[in-house]
Amino acid sequence: MLTNLQARDVATVLHPYSNLATLPRQGTLILERGDGVHVYDTDGKPYLEGMAGLWCTALGHGRQELVEVAAEQMSKLPFAHLFSGKSHDPAIALAEKLKELAPTPISKVFFCNSGSEANDTQMKLVWYVNNALGRPQKKKIISRIKAYHGVTIASASLTGLPNNHIDFDLPIAGVRHAACPHHYRFAHPGESEVDFATRLAAELDAQIEAEGPDTVAAFIAEPVMGAGGVIVPPETYYPKIQEVLEKHDVMLIADEVICGFGRLGEWFGSTAMEMSPDTISVAKALSSAYLPIAGVMIPEWIDEALIRQSEKIGVFGHGFTYSGHPVAAAVALRTLEIYERENIIGHVRGLIPHFQARLQALADHPLVGEARGKGLVGAVEVVADKATKRAFGPKQGVAPKVVALAEQEGLIVRAIGDAIAVCPPLVITEAQVDELFDKLARALDRAEAWAG
Ligand code: PLP
Repeated sequence: MLTNLQARDVATVLHPYSNLATLPRQGTLILERGDGVHVYDTDGKPYLEGMAGLWCTALGHGRQELVEVAAEQMSKLPFAHLFSGKSHDPAIALAEKLKELAPTPISKVFFCNSGSEANDTQMKLVWYVNNALGRPQKKKIISRIKAYHGVTIASASLTGLPNNHIDFDLPIAGVRHAACPHHYRFAHPGESEVDFATRLAAELDAQIEAEGPDTVAAFIAEPVMGAGGVIVPPETYYPKIQEVLEKHDVMLIADEVICGFGRLGEWFGSTAMEMSPDTISVAKALSSAYLPIAGVMIPEWIDEALIRQSEKIGVFGHGFTYSGHPVAAAVALRTLEIYERENIIGHVRGLIPHFQARLQALADHPLVGEARGKGLVGAVEVVADKATKRAFGPKQGVAPKVVALAEQEGLIVRAIGDAIAVCPPLVITEAQVDELFDKLARALDRAEAWAG
């Protein structure tokens, strides 16, 4: 029986990323407030936010300092834009800060409002810059199966998940998907991580050769794949992949939308995963999700190509009304200052061994085929048979059942196919990590009993 609010919700809100047929029967979990790593529903029941919202609320809820900086900026200058000769201090200061923190040398930052817009911008820049460089045939972008890069037409095309393509008439032309670097699912029997990485790099090399290296412009990768099921590429993967990219003059785009700002125990996931990207997309933890803001960081050679293109054709015709919105930029800048002041990265580093040990302990659970993760992100993959890795049938709904039972236990986690993802706020304490995994273990036990 739905509450009044739930009934009004399903009657009026078209919910993103939901089964629109079953949602009206199931109803929605309606949250009312948050405090630290906890959120509370309309009955006042607390939940440990094991997904940091959507991999984004790094500082948790209730940071009054961010509320105040937003209010101050709103009082002073609630809106100003960056188009055609205008600018404002919050955007300038934030770009400077990002330049200082970047894992590779960057020249400028283009601001936008979401991870999807950032990756959309990445694709447009790849096309535009290759035209500027006089190689208009070099335009294809290679992503990976199970990658998640967003939902706009371009970024959904880069995403490598069936539900983002089927019946949306995607992907668009010029996008290719390389193999998914998931050792548990895709390695050959007996193949080591290192050998798997070598094979994937050889396959990418062959794919680029088959496409024609002159037609392939870029490879886009999340350091650790998130919304595809938390997939940590095998040891030596990125150095080997990058060797192939360098050989064919293919640039590397790092999608740091989840991994950026501490998730893997470094400022950027690229550092943790030995990636040296040419350009970087950031969002989510950039403002700890207090306001929507994202960015694309570009190196000097792209900056120069863009300037040359303006010399030729005039205005760089790309930008959003809210690119670098002053309130969002002020909040993001303060968020980065808090990360530094409170040594959030150091805190994450200190927690990682405990978090990963508790995650790995779930690998012994009868329902769990693989427990995987890096930094403060992880997943457990439920299987019908641990020995053969046989998956449950999609109709059995075991992973969603674990999520529903976790919710009863007062824990929010997320099912992605057969994987159950955990990605708590970075400010979580060791005791709260225990609370998270105790609750998840109970949910798995109850799901096992339910599945029979
Ligand atoms: N890139 C990655 C790695 C993401 O995880 C996401 C969202 O989860 C996106 C891009 C898209 O971001 P948004 O939902 O803000 O458009």
